[in-house]
Amino acid sequence: MNSLDLANLIFPDIHETIADLEKRYPERNLPEGAEVTRFAPSPTGFLHTGSLFTSLVSSRFAKQSGGVFYIRLEDTDTKREIEGSGAELVSQLKVFDIIPDEGYLSDDKEIGNYGPYTQSKRADIYKTVIKELIIQGRAYPCFATPEELQALRDEQEKNKEIPGYYGKYAKYRNLPIDEAIEMIKAGKPYIIRFKSMGDHNNKIFFHDEIRGDLELTQNDQDIVILKSDGLPTYHFAHLVDDHFMRTTVVTRGEEWLSSLPIHLELFDTLGFKRPRYAHLPVIMKLDNGNKRKLSKRKDNEAAVEFFLQSGYPKYGFIEYLLTIANSNYEEWRNQNLDKSFYDFKLTFDHMSLDGALFDIEKVESISKERIAYTKATVLEAEVEEWAKKYDKPFYEMIIKDRDFLTKLLNIEREKENPRKDYAKYSDVYPIISFAYNEVYDNLDKSNLDWSVSFGKGETKIVPADVVKKALTSYMESYNVDCAEDEWFGNLKELAGTLGFTSDRKAYKANPADFNGQVGDFAGFIRLALACRKNTPNIYYIQKILGKDEVFRRIKLVLESI
Ligand code: GLU
Repeated sequence: MNSLDLANLIFPDIHETIADLEKRYPERNLPEGAEVTRFAPSPTGFLHTGSLFTSLVSSRFAKQSGGVFYIRLEDTDTKREIEGSGAELVSQLKVFDIIPDEGYLSDDKEIGNYGPYTQSKRADIYKTVIKELIIQGRAYPCFATPEELQALRDEQEKNKEIPGYYGKYAKYRNLPIDEAIEMIKAGKPYIIRFKSMGDHNNKIFFHDEIRGDLELTQNDQDIVILKSDGLPTYHFAHLVDDHFMRTTVVTRGEEWLSSLPIHLELFDTLGFKRPRYAHLPVIMKLDNGNKRKLSKRKDNEAAVEFFLQSGYPKYGFIEYLLTIANSNYEEWRNQNLDKSFYDFKLTFDHMSLDGALFDIEKVESISKERIAYTKATVLEAEVEEWAKKYDKPFYEMIIKDRDFLTKLLNIEREKENPRKDYAKYSDVYPIISFAYNEVYDNLDKSNLDWSVSFGKGETKIVPADVVKKALTSYMESYNVDCAEDEWFGNLKELAGTLGFTSDRKAYKANPADFNGQVGDFAGFIRLALACRKNTPNIYYIQKILGKDEVFRRIKLVLESI
């Protein structure tokens, strides 16, 4: 009996060879420099912020080089799988315009000639490769029971030796083929291991696209390549897939760096050309002064859905991730405000080496900036789309009069220094909802704060008759059919006649001589129209509400003073 008999006994139905696979999945015919990259999620839950980052970087490298970006579903860990999450991941990526050129789209839809792109559908491909490894004597069945493995761990611990299944500890590594065949025939359960020829006292050298030249410890572990369920482990599957899908550069999280020696040994053993590797920084968070990985369990911001639900614009979030990806992104952005972020060329050289620190305030400020430069009509559509999914009552209000929202959003927009008050779509409602009659009518008007400030932190209540006089006089001379400057000039004049000064110094010196300042007078109008002290520019608010509504509101407030 020889290794061929063993291989045929284990895989009686596998008749193809590696050479057949090489023919079926030929080298891609792409221009020089075109990268083939992939995003290879496991369907174990929601889209993680780190995964969005990885897929963004991977897809950019392919697209900017005229290459191919594909998605591969790594579903070999059936215990951790959550049904439907693969397709969900793809649709969440689509929200961010990360769309694969080929690969897995949903459980029954894939595109491309290098598939299947779902690992559980590739069992025969893995088996074909493993069969050859068995024939070559570089893979073997291992019959170790859980008890045997535990005894091994105990012994290694006692001897203070490196843990694992290797060298002299690899009990079934040198089992005579005849015995292995007998055990299989007797129905003993087994898995398949790779037979490593490495030595952990030796080093290997490798060039990572991001980390540069690395010196790593050689692998000597006889890792499991085929589990008892007939599916491969990650280490083995990624190698077979990246080879036959013709990936040029593997972009994956840095947590895989430590197992790279395994992967390199496998590539070399099979005579497959090694792809380039780029181990991307993991996204970290500061927790009580300590850096740690963003955690699925502890951190809201670990889930991309959190940002979608809060209503951060996808372009703001993507740009934030690009600032994490390349340290020169922000400088480029500031010099190219009119360009799309797609015009920025990502490079591995500018990628950070250690975990990138996640900074929600930066997400806010970038989003604010980008929203400020978005046209009102476009922003209206974005807010509407967001509200449709996440804020139904607001959505119903919006669709009754889209133009109304557009006008509100357009206040101090589309000009040189636009107003920067919205970081996310969920900020819109709290800021402008008072403008809607149904909201305004339900606001409490009986407790409005008619105080004005003077000195440091001191305030005084303006008597009700003064407030009433101010508001009525304002209505009497009401005119917003003019430029803002003119409106404010008139307001100043009127305020002056009612004891509201424009002379700051005089007010500061003797506040008791005045009812307040002109700004306070404008503040009363604001308070009457919105029942609050902060709103977007009140001149525009009045123009949008229209004279009738402005008067209706002021009168309502007058009644309750
Ligand atoms: N399925 C692996 C994961 O989700 C992917 C690693 C890789 O990109 O190779 O972590």
